Amino acid sequence: MAEVNNWQLGRKMWYPYEEKHPEWQFAFVFNINRCIACQTCTMACKSTWTFSKGQEFMWWNNVETKPYGGYPQFWDQKGMHLLDKANPGRQAWNSSGDGFYGTYKGTTIFEAPTAKQRERGQIAVGYVPTDKEWRFPNIYEDTAAGDTSMDLYTDHGKKGNYNWTKGEELPEHTGRWFHYLQRLCNHCTYPGCLGACPRKAIYKRQQDGIVLIDQNRCRGYRKCVEQCPFKKPMYRSTTRISEKCIACYPRVEGKDPISGGHPMETRCMAACVGQIRMQGLVKIDENGEWKKDRYSPLYYLIKVAKIALPLYPQFGTEPNGYYIPSRVAPRDYSKQMFGPGTDHAVDLYLAPDRETLAVLNLFRKTQKIIFKYAIQEGPKVWETQINGKHFTMYNDTVIGYGKNGEEIVRTTIEEPIHIRPEKHITSI
Ligand code: SF4
Ligand code: SF4
Repeated sequence: MAEVNNWQLGRKMWYPYEEKHPEWQFAFVFNINRCIACQTCTMACKSTWTFSKGQEFMWWNNVETKPYGGYPQFWDQKGMHLLDKANPGRQAWNSSGDGFYGTYKGTTIFEAPTAKQRERGQIAVGYVPTDKEWRFPNIYEDTAAGDTSMDLYTDHGKKGNYNWTKGEELPEHTGRWFHYLQRLCNHCTYPGCLGACPRKAIYKRQQDGIVLIDQNRCRGYRKCVEQCPFKKPMYRSTTRISEKCIACYPRVEGKDPISGGHPMETRCMAACVGQIRMQGLVKIDENGEWKKDRYSPLYYLIKVAKIALPLYPQFGTEPNGYYIPSRVAPRDYSKQMFGPGTDHAVDLYLAPDRETLAVLNLFRKTQKIIFKYAIQEGPKVWETQINGKHFTMYNDTVIGYGKNGEEIVRTTIEEPIHIRPEKHITSI
């Protein structure tokens, strides 16, 4: 085991391999609040990559309903139980610690195995889901929280459970809630799947940090399935090897015939009806830190505005999928999922500043990867109070630039009005 730096945890941690970092890293931001669970992303992925025999239960992209839903069922609860078993009641953050989000004082999946498990070659805690747990990509669809049977691990490390038994009244729901969680492989910096593979069949690409399984080396031992805390590698019974999201790497490389050579976002991102997704590439230095890139939309949302947070950072894989947390979920639940940055992220989302609102408006305006943005200031169009905070909206123009600095998209905060031409007026 080597000691590596995990910036999301604000501390060093154990990992089976020495640190080695790619030049660029595939990363994405999802705005949970905008998702309508239409599963267009799920179907875009399935119809591109997993439509063959043996892949019937394989959903590299899925959208599940929290808190009860999961694919495979219970993946997050079971993961948290394993950490709690190794270090009971201590999966806590020191939010005033030195790290970017504070310092995680609990145990990661790589630190949790016992000495005996390590002797047997176990590099992380994990489990293989049952066939039953893989059956549904969105079990308990639209089922709101409300019973007391699920455990909750807060950012203070304490275990509790839900106790929301009252009925709800508008305008504010305080007990009953649900939100969708959109999921794919996080192309982690310290992948549990890669660390676990006894065949060394999993690798992380130097050019973009995408994590792939070499189909020729894999023998289907399923250690990746066991030790990915997000349960994103999947076993295919017809070929008896494992498969996982490949981040549509031909598109990211600019080899999709429609891309004209320009790096493009994955199929699930490009298809998103709710416009919740933005994917890109971020520059990484030799120490694994993100190189300062102030006007990259991902760098801005994650590192400057801090509105988008990593999914279950406490697992320790340094996932590269980031989420704008739900504004309706109880904060303790979101803190379990996204760590101590939750309060700031939700408060900013409820009343975004001028620059944040502009960058959020770039979501899904183009299929090409946006490497930089610029804002041209426009007139004030609205102001109000939101939760006691002053909010002003300006009709700014936001411009997105591609890899070589060329303009690829231009949009305004207020949506333009299109008047249907007279000849089509009664066409529907
Ligand atoms: S999410 Fe899972 S499958 Fe994807 S890189 Fe991380 S550990 Fe591996
Ligand atoms: S396409 Fe977008 S809005 Fe629809 S389920 Fe997927 S992430 Fe949600």
